[in-house]
Amino acid sequence: MAQQNPGIPGILPNIDPDALKVVRKLLHAGHEAYLVGGCVRDLYLGLMPKDFDIATSATPEAIRKLFRNSRIIGRRFKLAHVFFGQKVMETATFRTKPRDAGDDPNNPLITHDNEWGSVEDDARRRDFTINALFFDVENQEVVDFVDGLYDLDQATVRTIGEPALRFREDPVRMLRAIKFASRLDFKIEPATWAALLEVAPDIVKCSRARLIEEIYKLLRSGSARPCFERLLESRLLQHVMPSYTSLYGGEDNGAVALAAGLSEGASGPAHLFWRFLDALDDFVKTTKQEVANGVLQAILFAPLLQREMGEDARQGLDRTIERMMTPVGAALGIARRDRELARQILMARRRMSASTGRRRRGSSVTQRDYFHDALVFLGVSVAALGDGGSELARWKSLAAASSGGPHGRGNDGRGNGGDGSDGSDGSDEPRRRRRRGGRKRGGKSASSSSSPKDSGAAATGDR
Ligand code: ATP
Ligand code: MG
Repeated sequence: MAQQNPGIPGILPNIDPDALKVVRKLLHAGHEAYLVGGCVRDLYLGLMPKDFDIATSATPEAIRKLFRNSRIIGRRFKLAHVFFGQKVMETATFRTKPRDAGDDPNNPLITHDNEWGSVEDDARRRDFTINALFFDVENQEVVDFVDGLYDLDQATVRTIGEPALRFREDPVRMLRAIKFASRLDFKIEPATWAALLEVAPDIVKCSRARLIEEIYKLLRSGSARPCFERLLESRLLQHVMPSYTSLYGGEDNGAVALAAGLSEGASGPAHLFWRFLDALDDFVKTTKQEVANGVLQAILFAPLLQREMGEDARQGLDRTIERMMTPVGAALGIARRDRELARQILMARRRMSASTGRRRRGSSVTQRDYFHDALVFLGVSVAALGDGGSELARWKSLAAASSGGPHGRGNDGRGNGGDGSDGSDGSDEPRRRRRRGGRKRGGKSASSSSSPKDSGAAATGDR
């Protein structure tokens, strides 16, 4: 189904002026230079790119010399970051596919990736045709070696080259195929999808760091629901997170239960799982906020904890969280601080929906480092469960009242009041202000958890 895109005329006027500066300076110095990848794809489609990447014939050292405001990063694959205030323009030298890649048909996994090449080599080593377009700013043309424009017009995700081989070289590409198809509302080209189904078990060959980072990206993409539907259908979910899917019905039946949860009349945790993803997608699309990893973890476990949330003894909830999250967290290599934040906000959720008698005590939650994240989670939960709107409104107004800074106010005048003094419904933990070196929340969600950008080139591998 062809769709109406702004196309090539939509690209130049929407390029970040600093990105243009970098490209023009490289050109002026006699190098080849283009905008490349996601930004060209998104501008062609009329979407706002997350960032602007530049590809050039200049080596990292030459880029470094040309831009005083730049730094070379990466060991495995060197590239340059050119800084404009808070903004970073990633400027990478054209690369080619590593010479030994594909030499051994039984083991095509790319283990190193550091050969310079031509612009065409650089296009062909990329993952999907829609991600391999170069924009030539002088001629206002898209340079397309792989029929990526055709696939953009046809709304199709297609690997460059032989799909099974490209997925075997780097199995994370399978998650990326699902991410782009879901986010852009594209179809996955049939041969690409067939190869994905065939190679899916290889996903376990990737490092846990890359896998969990990619799972977070899918969750915060604004299209978590269609992503996870495709993950389940392709069995990638079962391969990446077996300890998690089995929580829905055992090793063999967890995925079956999740699939059944998709049907209209379904109920129970598996059905709630999809409702939470819908609510998360709505939140991401309407607020454009980057949801912290810990909140994403809490969302994954919330459907499984509804019974405990309603029960009286907080220890029961704490123990169940521990029992469920510890093995899954260990298997996936989830960072400790992300797990801890998830635990805190799940516990806080219970306090925040506590009945009237406990409300005043509960207000100490607003003083916590994690309050903003707890509020995000509460909003998603309320939307998923269709219940608790008035509590949400109350906490939002408390948040607004204390927005001079969550730490601007003293305690509530009752000393440790809400912090478990009666042993039945206190804080989820002893007060630990400023434990992490006085970090201050800047009104955004990512500060108490690994930020979306934390992973860096080391974790993202082939970029
Ligand atoms: P997003 O909007 O999610 O950032 P993007 O297309 O910019 O999408 P990135 O992960 O930022 O994706 O990667 C930048 C570019 O690097 C991609 O467009 C693609 O050309 C290339 N790339 C990234 N990961 C891979 C990979 N695993 N294999 C081959 N090429 C890749
Ligand atoms: Mg990008």
